[in-house]
Amino acid sequence: MKKGSLFVVSAPAGCGKDTILNELFKRTDKAGYAVSATTRAPREGEVNGVHYHFLSRAEFERKIAEKEVLEYTEYCGNYYGTLQKSVNDLLERGKDAILKIEVEGAMNIKRQFPEACLVFILPPSWEVLEKRLRDRGTETEDKIIERTNQARREVKFAESYDYLIVNDEFSAAVDDLLAVLRAESLRRVRNDELLARFE
Ligand code: 5GP
Repeated sequence: MKKGSLFVVSAPAGCGKDTILNELFKRTDKAGYAVSATTRAPREGEVNGVHYHFLSRAEFERKIAEKEVLEYTEYCGNYYGTLQKSVNDLLERGKDAILKIEVEGAMNIKRQFPEACLVFILPPSWEVLEKRLRDRGTETEDKIIERTNQARREVKFAESYDYLIVNDEFSAAVDDLLAVLRAESLRRVRNDELLARFE
């Protein structure tokens, strides 16, 4: 069985990455979400083992010490990390493993796995992103400014990514991501066994 590939998807808050990924997993069974671990509290509707493995700080630190974490970061006062097991379980079943992680984690994964494919999701413009954050109606003006500034810092990393997808029209963005997965699966380096048939 062909092993799956490693993908990282990053995007600033408000760019629609969760919605895009949820739809992607409905449209393909060739890719799966590598569930991260975090010490932040579950939000309403989040299920342990599905959205995250919710751990205490002590549990998280034990996993780091036992080298069960491929990369981790502290983001807004909480640990977030990619579990080796989450990734391996998918790759060994022949599925592409999708890591939904922030930019520092993405750079860390690329250093360890240069063949990993990094995808950055952009908003159509800064104006649209700010409008989307405002329209949520859940954030104070200070929080909106903080999130926009954070987004500007994150977008600086986009130049180190392999693919850029603009989430202008949601369904087209999902198509774009599916196209990336498909193109990557056709790479010669991932298909040496195919050429071996023609030796
Ligand atoms: P949230 O708390 O909104 O679920 O996630 C906050 C940020 O942490 C998001 O940018 C998310 O992509 C990132 N994140 C989630 N899991 C991981 C992980 O395992 N490693 C890293 N480096 N970042 C993560």
